[in-house]
Amino acid sequence: MARIDRIADPWGTRTPYGPGEDWPVRVDTFLKEGVSPQDVDRWVPTASILHSNGDGMDIAVKDGRMVGVRGAAGDRINRGRLDPKDLYAWQAGASPDRLTRPLISRDGALVETDWDTAMDAVVRRSRELLDEQGPGAFGFYTTGQLFLEEYYTLAAIARGGIGTHHLDGNTRLCTATAAAALKESFGCDGQPGTYADIDHADVIALFGHNAAETQTVLWMRMLDRLAGPNPPQVICVDPRPTPVARMAAVHLAPRPGTNVALMNGLLHEIISAGRIDRGYVDAHTVGYEELERRVEEYPPARVAELCDVPEELIRRAAGLLGDAERLVSTVLQGFYQSHQATAAAVQVNNLHLIRGMLGRPGCGVLQMNGQPTAQNTRECGADGDLPGFRNWANDDHVADLARIWNVEPERIPHYAPPTHAMQIFRYAEQGSIRFLWVSGTNPAVSLPELSRIRKILAQERLFLVVQDIFPTETTELADVVLPAATWGEKTGAFTNADRTVHLSEKAVEPPGEARPDLEIFLDYAGRMGFTGKDGTPLITWTGPESAFRAWQECSRGRPCDYTGLSYERLRAAGGVQWPCDQDHPDGTERLYSDGRFWAAPEYCESFGRDLVTGTPVEEVEYRFLNPSGKAVIKSAGYLPPHEMPDELRPFHLINGRTVHHFHTRTKTARAPQLRDAAPDVWVEMSAADAAAHDMREGDLAEISSPRGVVHARLRVTGIRPGVLFLPFHYGYWDLPDDAGRTRAANELTVTDWDPASKQPLFKTGAATIRLLERGGGDAPADRDSEAEPARSRTALADEEPR
Ligand code: SF4
Repeated sequence: MARIDRIADPWGTRTPYGPGEDWPVRVDTFLKEGVSPQDVDRWVPTASILHSNGDGMDIAVKDGRMVGVRGAAGDRINRGRLDPKDLYAWQAGASPDRLTRPLISRDGALVETDWDTAMDAVVRRSRELLDEQGPGAFGFYTTGQLFLEEYYTLAAIARGGIGTHHLDGNTRLCTATAAAALKESFGCDGQPGTYADIDHADVIALFGHNAAETQTVLWMRMLDRLAGPNPPQVICVDPRPTPVARMAAVHLAPRPGTNVALMNGLLHEIISAGRIDRGYVDAHTVGYEELERRVEEYPPARVAELCDVPEELIRRAAGLLGDAERLVSTVLQGFYQSHQATAAAVQVNNLHLIRGMLGRPGCGVLQMNGQPTAQNTRECGADGDLPGFRNWANDDHVADLARIWNVEPERIPHYAPPTHAMQIFRYAEQGSIRFLWVSGTNPAVSLPELSRIRKILAQERLFLVVQDIFPTETTELADVVLPAATWGEKTGAFTNADRTVHLSEKAVEPPGEARPDLEIFLDYAGRMGFTGKDGTPLITWTGPESAFRAWQECSRGRPCDYTGLSYERLRAAGGVQWPCDQDHPDGTERLYSDGRFWAAPEYCESFGRDLVTGTPVEEVEYRFLNPSGKAVIKSAGYLPPHEMPDELRPFHLINGRTVHHFHTRTKTARAPQLRDAAPDVWVEMSAADAAAHDMREGDLAEISSPRGVVHARLRVTGIRPGVLFLPFHYGYWDLPDDAGRTRAANELTVTDWDPASKQPLFKTGAATIRLLERGGGDAPADRDSEAEPARSRTALADEEPR
């Protein structure tokens, strides 16, 4: 057994393996100082909730408290490994500043109250608004961190109870493009590939996906392949010199906002070299000719100029992609949060369709998720979709959902696509939404253009309910705050980015009066008296397991079919991949192995959108284009981003994440090891730009855009010249009141979104930088990427290869 500082070394020790072999087991454990495995009373099974990887793990409980975690050796996702957030962030649950009682606004200040008073206030305002304005006055903005039972209940309340169209998740910020790209290409959401494809691949291409920091355990799997015999070749597309880039055979660092041009250039080369599977294309796809015509306009020389990438590197990357026999592609925020997000992500799907590389071991696309339960918001209809991947534009699908909920179809709004988050906030700004219920997320730090978002949330006319586990920048603006239980304090199921469903069991009691989110939603539904069309209660379930069973019925016959699962089954089997039904009793490792897609007009989740304008495709048009439900190859030309650097603001500004923090750090900054690893915001700049601006490592800089200003210490890196990078995790809750500076990256970002997925853009904007104060030493940055790491005794975790 080895003891490793997993802050300094986020990926731990290598366990090399070769193609087609099983990934070896390595069990990672971290126990509170002074606790040994023999002291643990019980180990409670769960899965990770701090990223989308879904690592199976057990919580160590002693005397009714969490005292540590251990990776699940038999879990198909991680084979025992845990990432730094998994290892340390559970400690946040016991923070003394947890919300333990409801709060209500009185004379401009939040004061403690009891549940009845808080819920009465929420229900009173709901009834008033329903009478005065109707369902359109209500907005619900949820997260990617609750459990599927909770999302399904929220979807039933919002769409079937209130009857509002305005329900979305903050998954809009991180996975909306994954869902949109899958719908565009395959007619339905659902990851074609599986993490096990990494075990077989000979080429792994990561498009805007810094897996080393966002899906750390998935990266360990890749690193172990790279350390073993016959390693795969890695292609990395990222403007930063990430740990992925350092392991890549080809690193393409395109100019921000040019992903579509780059993808078109790669497709151009692959098609010109005749490296396509014509038989697969003819049998299983529509739209190829249009793609061929489109990418003719993108020869490498033109793409090299548009993207500012050497032509030779484009040819080399295309050569690897074209020659691969087993190709895995992964995609994340570098594409999803950038200009022409869906159009770019769809081109990755096209790459696999034209090469016939789907549904076989080592041939898969992973359109990744950011958040742990993002997949469930999408399946359960708590983001801008209807439950069970039903198509809002298909009356039969709406009628089927109405049958399940025992309501009239007219109760479920479907006059237009469900409202996306950016539009929900716009409606609140305009005043048509007067009631906004935010659960498990912190829009006052995570949404773009924060000065605007704060103004919207602070409006007197908006009744703001915030349900969370800690006080945040958003709870401060609420009319009512509802204290929630968190992971380990409640039971429920959730699904990771490769469709693996885990059950997460309650290990300890929530603090004070905090309640599981499901209980809060059920309480609201009961008080509101929502009923079906015959006057019986709309919500017929009473707890997690009965909610899961209700969801199973809703999923029956749909792509995300859970009917073969049960809590009992999940307890026995650990993670299982959906669809899991009578025909697939053990779950389904890869989708589309038979070349058949969920794209038939009567079955598909979406008829798609125009990738450039976002206009929904009409049913008639879709039936004409794709009568027999093949995969759809959709092309798009490159268009320049809306905001480009100029003389005044000469830099592209991008923001992103770091390995030690999750989202707005509400959990990770309350774990001492993670907080200390990256305590404050920094800004990354290339050495050439730093020299040109006479700036040095550690200097305090002011970064400004037309929206605002951020103060951050400088980190000089190998980032693309002309680009500035800010981590987006940092808000204000742990900054002293007299700090006198703004530090949230979203002070600077623009209110703009992808036309197809409606995902806001965090990676295209213009900014300038100036020296504020000559600083000393290092920036307060994560050290895993470039410098010698600090060693921390409190971060020592055990690793046991088996
Ligand atoms: S940090 Fe980014 S990728 Fe991760 S959950 Fe938040 S928005 Fe999604």
